[in-house]
Amino acid sequence: MDRLIWAARQVRQYAYAPYSGFRVGAALETDDGTIITGVNVENASYPLGCCAERAALYTAVGQGYRRFVRIAVVGPGSRPVPPCGGCRQALAEFGDLTVIMATPDETGPIETRGLHELLPHQFGAELGAKEEPHGL
Ligand SMILES: [Zn+2]
Repeated sequence: MDRLIWAARQVRQYAYAPYSGFRVGAALETDDGTIITGVNVENASYPLGCCAERAALYTAVGQGYRRFVRIAVVGPGSRPVPPCGGCRQALAEFGDLTVIMATPDETGPIETRGLHELLPHQFGAELGAKEEPHGL
């Protein structure tokens, strides 16, 4: 079994999802082969929750990593769960990578897509605000 999918399945047990019960694990692979995991963390103030993919990404960036090769995402149920639009954009900040979507069941389906395929026409740094703020 792919060690990245295995890591996402394993870490999923630590997801904090008391409100939705939708537990997600993510495992991000850096260009040197390091695997950094994350889980979704919900909050009583719902908008403050964070997805597993971004939790893994932000942890990795905080450890000095900037180049990523693959991310595996494992959610509940029998169908692979894709990253939400926000996570796609957050990941795209660091370039393209392969997104592997799997299920908790080792015999379940696995779907693999390129991030740029999942997020066409993405907002990039070249489009970022460089104009003077209005009214200042
Ligand atoms: Zn997300």
